[in-house]
Amino acid sequence: MYQEILNEIFKEVGQSNCRGKQADYIPELAKVPPDKFAIYLTTLDGKSCGVGDLNDKLSLQSIAKVFGFTLAYKLKGNAVFQHVGVEPSGDPFNSLIQLEQEHGMPRNPLINAGAIAICDILIDKLSNPEQDLLDFIRKIAHNDTITYNPKVYQSEKATGHRNRALIHLMKSFGRINNDTETVLDLYFKLCSVEMTAPELSKTFLVYANHGKIPETQEQILTSSQTKRLNAIMQTCGFYDEAGEFTFRVGLPGKSGVGGGIAAIHPGKYAVAVWSPLLNSKGNSVKGMKALELLTTKLGWSIF
Ligand code: GLN
Repeated sequence: MYQEILNEIFKEVGQSNCRGKQADYIPELAKVPPDKFAIYLTTLDGKSCGVGDLNDKLSLQSIAKVFGFTLAYKLKGNAVFQHVGVEPSGDPFNSLIQLEQEHGMPRNPLINAGAIAICDILIDKLSNPEQDLLDFIRKIAHNDTITYNPKVYQSEKATGHRNRALIHLMKSFGRINNDTETVLDLYFKLCSVEMTAPELSKTFLVYANHGKIPETQEQILTSSQTKRLNAIMQTCGFYDEAGEFTFRVGLPGKSGVGGGIAAIHPGKYAVAVWSPLLNSKGNSVKGMKALELLTTKLGWSIF
């Protein structure tokens, strides 16, 4: 059933006219062919299927913020919320205005400022942050080949002035403990993690499974923590388009400027979709369309 629906979506989205553009503020991402498309779904009862460019790696970008937050939440528990809030920002992912008005406290862990504050915590808590964070992602992915992409990392490091502005603003309010370039380095590495759509959908299954890695049954977050993280994805995962995504798709999810979106139906499945052309809010145009079609055709959402 799933495969037929995905085939229909592939056809319908392929025929649709898409106006959007790649995230060219990270030069390496502008090189990705705009017509790439993949969708892959993995269920908790062991089925999986997909269609499109399933062997290509996509740059996770902000989708990877979910993994950084998962590790910080696991390590610090509720104390993590002394560093980031849980309210949607209603602002672009890299906006400075609210951060100034709110004394350097990021609204949530999924906007850039929040994910950077989370990387600061990880540096405090981990003995070898870069390797330990990667090992953690590999563990939830149940895949030791997952890695950072050095070109994408370098490309963002060379051009990430807005993220530098965000971290310096937070530091001016005394909210960052570590050296700013060290923290940004971890943040840029995290954003550069790449996976295929099948790998991404399998990795997100942990969030559909009450925090337990399906293959190993290891509990990464408690069931209650997982509910909270999914709530944050629902309300904040698409920045100033979180309402629109919820309205059209009705699942918790997270987008990235690489054109990927990962979403879950708790207790049922995880899905990853990829198409590099973004709308003005930085979310994949065809990715959103594909997920809207998926929940419409299945007749299920969380609402
Ligand atoms: N690395 C990107 C940035 O910091 C992530 C943004 C995104 O995917 N929305 O700008």
